[in-house]
Amino acid sequence: MMDSFEEACKAKGLRITNQRTEIFKALLKHPDHPTTEEIYNQVRKHLKTISLDTVYRTIATIEAYGLIKKVHHIDNTTRFDTNTSNHHHLVCTRCHRIEDFTWPDFDRMTPPDSVSHWKQTDVKHCVVEGLCSHCRKQRTGQKIHRKEAL
Ligand SMILES: [Zn+2]
Ligand SMILES: [Zn+2]
Repeated sequence: MMDSFEEACKAKGLRITNQRTEIFKALLKHPDHPTTEEIYNQVRKHLKTISLDTVYRTIATIEAYGLIKKVHHIDNTTRFDTNTSNHHHLVCTRCHRIEDFTWPDFDRMTPPDSVSHWKQTDVKHCVVEGLCSHCRKQRTGQKIHRKEAL
């Protein structure tokens, strides 16, 4: 994947800098759709003098070159995705964890007539919300706990 970063940079005429490499590496280490702040905290360990603003701008550049994608999300934070292939998101409404999933049947469907007044639609992205298995377990645990207290 790191090789493909360098190749993609070369192919797109993006200069490879130590900062860009470190930031991209940090993104790869976090397939869980990190925020800019999370990436900043990660790269700061290696690049002590880097600013949050630089991380913002670098991520924006990497995104503009199509090497990562912005995730449409519910909790008002911008998150990034190194998985640029077509996929959908499973979102936990409690801890905001995001998992990738594929849905070939959905991908094959054409948008309904109700959106045809837009002459062009480009991306069909699906978000499924619920409780992740971790939060679900915690919740069940709480219930049991409460029963015991009674
Ligand atoms: Zn959760
Ligand atoms: Zn994703």
